[in-house]
Amino acid sequence: MRIFDPHIHMSSRTTDDYERMRASGVTALVEPSFWLGQPRTSAASFVDHFDALLGWEPYRAAQYGIAHHCALALNPKEANDPRCTPILKELPRYLEKDSVVAVGEIGYDSITPAEDEALAAQLELAARHGLPALVHTPHRDKLAGLERTLAVLAESELPPERVVLDHLNETTVDRAADSGCWLAFSVYPDTKMDEARTVAVLRRLGLDRMLVNSAADWGKSDPLKTRKVGDAMLAAGFGEDDVDRVLWRNPVEFYGLSGRLDLGERERPELFEGNSIARGAPAGR
Ligand SMILES: [Zn+2]
Repeated sequence: MRIFDPHIHMSSRTTDDYERMRASGVTALVEPSFWLGQPRTSAASFVDHFDALLGWEPYRAAQYGIAHHCALALNPKEANDPRCTPILKELPRYLEKDSVVAVGEIGYDSITPAEDEALAAQLELAARHGLPALVHTPHRDKLAGLERTLAVLAESELPPERVVLDHLNETTVDRAADSGCWLAFSVYPDTKMDEARTVAVLRRLGLDRMLVNSAADWGKSDPLKTRKVGDAMLAAGFGEDDVDRVLWRNPVEFYGLSGRLDLGERERPELFEGNSIARGAPAGR
């Protein structure tokens, strides 16, 4: 089973996770920029984060034979903090980098005017830089949040076929499907979607424009959820080609819209800027 996780925050995961993911079939992923769990105190904090998503994290992933790309943006949650919003001025130069394959994740968290502004501005940046957008739908008031998202999208220059609506569930998927956007499901241990519910949605709505991700981060989450959905699809009677479509060909097609996806073999340099993932000298030396 070849797997492309289209949304996972590897910066908050360990090398053990990379090892287990590779053993489960994950050979490519997209890491969207993310908040820290605690507030950032300045825009400079994003600069280091973005640089890590373009340098250190692809280096770590390559050690395990995994192709790493990223999506960059001001996160919806951070759009409400005036200490963070100045990063929008720095974002355009980052959106020109080779391994940036989308603007994201953007969207709504608490559904505030500041979030409206950040979403519209970043959809504009996606259109201007020829990138698709990864749009997070809010966890509370899901349907109202989706309606508001679709209204802002309709005003933007970015066409729906270049947008993925993420964190969908049974309450939002039908409305989202009508929009013409791509549809994504984050499969979590206790919240959002689980394997069985995801398979039921795929059976009902088909595999066209469908993406499945683990959205694993520093919270309770599981980087092997993509594989578990693949196994659940097979157990439910889907064929191997169906699984390949959802877990590989669909994400390749979506992020391929950037024109920057590179799924070739990665070099595995021993060091990145003088540092490695090995800690200390091998035993006995
Ligand atoms: Zn995320």
